[in-house]
Amino acid sequence: MLDRLKPQSPDALLALIKLYADDGRADKIDLGVGVYRTNEGATPVFRAIKAAEAKLVAEQDSKSYLGPEGDLGFVHALMPYIFGKDATKQGRIEGMQTPGGTGAVRLAVAVAQKAGVTAIHMGVPSWPNHAQILSDVNVETKAFDHTNADGTANIDAVLEVIRHAQNGEAVLLHGCCHNPTGIDYSNEQWDQIAAALADSKALAILDIAYQGLGNGLEEDAYGVRKVLSSVPEALIAYSCDKNFGMYRDRVGALYVMMETPDKLDPVLSNLNALARASWSMPPDHGGAAVRLLLRDPDMTQQWLEELENMRLRMREVRAELAKAGHAGTVDLRPLGRQNGLFSVLPLSKEQIQALRDDHAIYMAGSGRINIAGLYLGNIPKFIDALAAVTS
Ligand code: PMP
Repeated sequence: MLDRLKPQSPDALLALIKLYADDGRADKIDLGVGVYRTNEGATPVFRAIKAAEAKLVAEQDSKSYLGPEGDLGFVHALMPYIFGKDATKQGRIEGMQTPGGTGAVRLAVAVAQKAGVTAIHMGVPSWPNHAQILSDVNVETKAFDHTNADGTANIDAVLEVIRHAQNGEAVLLHGCCHNPTGIDYSNEQWDQIAAALADSKALAILDIAYQGLGNGLEEDAYGVRKVLSSVPEALIAYSCDKNFGMYRDRVGALYVMMETPDKLDPVLSNLNALARASWSMPPDHGGAAVRLLLRDPDMTQQWLEELENMRLRMREVRAELAKAGHAGTVDLRPLGRQNGLFSVLPLSKEQIQALRDDHAIYMAGSGRINIAGLYLGNIPKFIDALAAVTS
């Protein structure tokens, strides 16, 4: 029976990791996999997380089951950072812990589907797993162009989609640090999006996986907060895997906002049932460590500093690239205005292959680069190589 299964193509980025590891050239550059790196190319555990983990090991007195909603202390401790001062909006927002942002997106799409959503509008390109999750949950993807050719956000496309959305449709938006383009909506554009959503039939699903890595922790929450102040209900998927460096510990949360607090319970009970039938309950360790961190002022201060250093390093790399102007035919200036870990370069498959073969520079086949794979020391080589393959 199982031999009926057709082989699936392997994840291209994971295959790239192996190719990179096997490359013996000393000056190789990895711009593929989406993790933050220091100037030295490391992805260290945050010191604040180390401190929280030490406390967790010392204090944890049981590993007995929690429940499908996971560690609600963690879920609630995060809320002021995402939603601001009135973090529950007078009791209208509640959440649950999920296995990473992926689990949160999955649960958001599944509960939307259960509530009658049959199609989700999504700007493309997007994080490839978005389309995979939608397809797996049997929701149609309706794609619109996220970007204009000049590297700015295509605000007209998203407004058009929101205005014409039908009952049974949702719109999925990246809260900040768009993956893969790095092209975010400006605050003025978020104001327009929020106003359009207020008059739209579409359900808003917001995915925020890089808060603090764009323009700052508060600044990066502008879009989410603006939308939530304009619509009656929404789903918000959140990942702590980048901004707390928790990647493999799978730390995330899904929040739901309803028009009035009394409408939350039925939705939450459906979320619990869906979680129960898939992963039952989320892994505890990472969420518990983040809870302890956020309840301790010193650890929180340390985390904020570490996060800010990451952000500033990526801004420095972006500024340095933008300063170069052009590399061959590639205009690098838009990268200075883009946010977060990623940007997409307009390169052909052949040029991407030549970068790998001739210059030991590894990037995704889409032209997406991980900004954190660069540092002041290897940027000149990168720019020279871009010029060589595009001229
Ligand atoms: N949403 C977006 C836009 C992402 O880029 C990612 C992953 N990098 C996620 C969600 C999921 O993150 P994770 O499951 O690693 O927490």
